[in-house]
Amino acid sequence: MTYKGGCHCGRIAFEVQGDIGQVIECNCSICSKRGSLLWFVPRDQLRLHTPAADLGTYTFRTGKIRHHFCPTCGCAPFAVGADKTGALQAAVNARCLEGVAPSTLKVIPFDGRSV
Ligand SMILES: [Zn+2]
Repeated sequence: MTYKGGCHCGRIAFEVQGDIGQVIECNCSICSKRGSLLWFVPRDQLRLHTPAADLGTYTFRTGKIRHHFCPTCGCAPFAVGADKTGALQAAVNARCLEGVAPSTLKVIPFDGRSV
């Protein structure tokens, strides 16, 4: 299945391939403030329709995760980081996907605050 996603104003647009089995609700310092419901997919399953230069990027602490956001409307539809094997993963905010009702998703709590 292919999902369309993006920010509120449309400056960031992308498609994600895969099936949303479950999403992660993380309690780390940034996820708890943003309210993200994260769907992890290999980075190559996310096809960006926006020039990379149009993405705002925020990093903190180790700087290993690139939290992207729209400089125009402020939405933060995805982040990119490497997993333990070094493979790039995208953490897509399921709330920014078209046609996905968050209340229908299986939400798994993750204690990111303690990591
Ligand atoms: Zn926007």
